Amino acid sequence: MWNSNLSTKRTSLERFRLKRALDTLASKEGRGTELISLYVSPGRQISEVIAMLKQEYGTAANIKSDTTRKNVQDAIVKVKQRLKLFNEVPEKGLVIFCGAIPQNGPGSEKIETYVVTPPEPIQVYLYRCDSKFHIEYLKEFLREKETYGIMVIDSSATTFATLRGRRLETAKEITSGVPGKHRAGGQSARRFERLREAKLLDYFKRIGKHADEIFLPISDLKGVLIGGPGPTKNDFQKGDYLHYTLGDKIIATVDTAYVGEQGVEEVTERTPEILRHVRYVEEKKIMQDFLYEIGHDTGLATYGEKEVKRCLENGAVKTLLLSEAVNLVRVTVKCTACDYVKQETMKDQEVLEFEQSLSEQGCPNCNAPALQLAEVKEVIDDLAELADQTGADVELISIETEEGQMLKNSFGGIAAILRFKLPS
Ligand SMILES: [Zn+2]
Repeated sequence: MWNSNLSTKRTSLERFRLKRALDTLASKEGRGTELISLYVSPGRQISEVIAMLKQEYGTAANIKSDTTRKNVQDAIVKVKQRLKLFNEVPEKGLVIFCGAIPQNGPGSEKIETYVVTPPEPIQVYLYRCDSKFHIEYLKEFLREKETYGIMVIDSSATTFATLRGRRLETAKEITSGVPGKHRAGGQSARRFERLREAKLLDYFKRIGKHADEIFLPISDLKGVLIGGPGPTKNDFQKGDYLHYTLGDKIIATVDTAYVGEQGVEEVTERTPEILRHVRYVEEKKIMQDFLYEIGHDTGLATYGEKEVKRCLENGAVKTLLLSEAVNLVRVTVKCTACDYVKQETMKDQEVLEFEQSLSEQGCPNCNAPALQLAEVKEVIDDLAELADQTGADVELISIETEEGQMLKNSFGGIAAILRFKLPS
């Protein structure tokens, strides 16, 4: 569906952003068939899309229900306004969702608009009007698409396979040629053992050679998983039989009940769990690095939105640590009568009430009843953007580990490891 030649490297933050956006969109439901999903693929002309929307606006005039007709037409107008902000379709395409969403029971609908830039070029061009937003084409991007190499090894045979996204392919099967543990009559025990070891060594070398041939050419190979029922796989792993770049990519050794394709299936079934575990180990390591700096009072770590932001702005942040559980937004309020601007941080569920309270108060500067919510921005996004600009790494930390819980509960979900000590 999209160009698979493009880099599939995705940061934990990008994934999280998209997942969160899609979760929000999935939760929205229209009163009737009045929610618009618009996918614009790269290469289209904005003018062409606008012309199409004009036509849809005309078609919508035939809708019988007054409310639905009005809501659909209002949404189309909003989408057109959004489109006009772009001079051209971004290189990965553009997705706009817009529609009247009930805020608090019937009659409380408010037009909500969401613009999503896809992480990879989208190939669909479509307009849909439905009671829900069509997010399925974006959901595709959440799927793991990296490739993993799988080897299931025991003393009798080895099976090589690749797992790309959900597609599993057996690449090769080789037999070991290693005799069983029971020698034939007449052979001396020592001679038999030596022969067996020589055959085993030869077998391991062959496994290494085939693994190199099969896995090394895969440019997006993310890791190698080794499975098998007995200790042979561990003996293989201990030796230096793989090309070093493959050896470095071994992420787990898995005990399986079976060999052959069934063994491969077993490893595959456990892959999501293994990868999650790998990520948890990474997260724990990052958090431990942070806690070390804090515990030893080195001045090379800090936490809390304000301090972290200050360090980011001074280019002092090496790694920005953000808890997935942070649901803070920064709102910008502007006065339309003068140049008064203020920013405030709050929980995202408080925004609606805050916006309502604005209409009840005058501008502190000019007293005009002209305060408006100019921007609502996730604190996570805000900090991540600053991190991007200063070359800091961004790590999104789940709350699945004890350390992740600490980040959320003891450090407010926002922390940083610093490049250098920043005087306060
Ligand atoms: Zn003012």
